[in-house]
Amino acid sequence: MKPFSYATALSPESARQLASSSKHGAYLAGGNDLLGLLKEGLVEADLLVNVKALPGLGKIEQSGAGWSIGALATVAQVEKHPGLKAAFPGLAAAAAEVASPQIRNVATVGGNLAQHSRCWYFRHRDTLCLKKGGDHCFARNGENRYHTLFTGNPCVSPMVSSLAVAFAALDAVAVVVREGKELRWSMADFYHRAWENPLTHHSLEPGDLVVRVEVPLLRTRSAYLQASEKHAFDWALVSCAAATGIDGGKMKGPRIALGSISPMPHQAEAANTFLEGKPLALDDATATQAADLLLKEAQPLEHNGYKVPIALALVRRALLQLQS
Ligand SMILES: Cc1cc2nc3c(=O)[nH]c(=O)nc-3n(C[C@H](O)[C@H](O)[C@H](O)COP(=O)(O)OP(=O)(O)OC[C@H]3O[C@@H](n4cnc5c(N)ncnc54)[C@H](O)[C@@H]3O)c2cc1C
Repeated sequence: MKPFSYATALSPESARQLASSSKHGAYLAGGNDLLGLLKEGLVEADLLVNVKALPGLGKIEQSGAGWSIGALATVAQVEKHPGLKAAFPGLAAAAAEVASPQIRNVATVGGNLAQHSRCWYFRHRDTLCLKKGGDHCFARNGENRYHTLFTGNPCVSPMVSSLAVAFAALDAVAVVVREGKELRWSMADFYHRAWENPLTHHSLEPGDLVVRVEVPLLRTRSAYLQASEKHAFDWALVSCAAATGIDGGKMKGPRIALGSISPMPHQAEAANTFLEGKPLALDDATATQAADLLLKEAQPLEHNGYKVPIALALVRRALLQLQS
């Protein structure tokens, strides 16, 4: 591991100033992802800016139209917060699937959203893949069983944040401070750059600080399911979140999002529109039709075609869970 300096920021502005005061400044939250990347020599940081002391960023609170979750709230807090759990059971379920209790106790919401690729070519220190500035995605025609079914660029590394998938279905907004101004991003905005640009994992630029995520109270029913190789301590092969409001027993503003199959939470407007106004007590055939719409344009690679039936099953099950 290369030597680095360490500083603690006491305000978002000082965090940005500190990070930009050196060539490779990086924010350090729970450290679960960043420290591993540093140890493997995959990220070069000469200054770690500890953001955990930033005041007010660990709060979870209800505001008039929804809930505000500070970027420093831990994944365990999101999992266990009674008010959040009652309002958004799908979000609590997504948090409960993250890694292990030990990791959830220190992993933060901001760090979870900004975590880097799990692609094993990217994570291999001796492989200069496209995501690290090389000229080739080794996974595209190589060992690609964990990779994307959808992508907008030659890199096939998927976004694996469980929270991002639940937030996408709930139409949550990430508030990001860039040069003193607050930007409000949907989850699609948060990962859009990764869809287009193989070098990035998300749309954050150096110095951008996630300060909170706002979740509107529009969708009172939500569910989250993921399929992994291991029961715990593992990322999802495929994850799925569904959420909806209810109007007279019918779905109002339904949303479905899939994770681990695209550089961003995968959503299809056609599926959401199809479900609008359908009875909450959905039958299996209608849920299957919605799932088909979501996966219609999937482009499996040589070794990950198995993800399609898993995704179809998760969508159906998540939609049926909205009834209870
Ligand atoms: C075995 C294992 C299994 C896992 N399974 C899952 C899973 O199923 N689902 C899942 O979602 N995750 C999973 N994870 C990943 C884990 O949840 C993330 O590594 C963790 O949430 C990162 O949070 P952190 O606070 O530790 O981030 P850090 O490691 O501190 O930071 C991660 C990145 O985010 C940046 N960052 C941190 N905070 C901010 C901020 N406020 N603004 C801007 N940038 C910021 C950092 O600079 C860094 O680049 C797993 C991890 C392990 C080890």
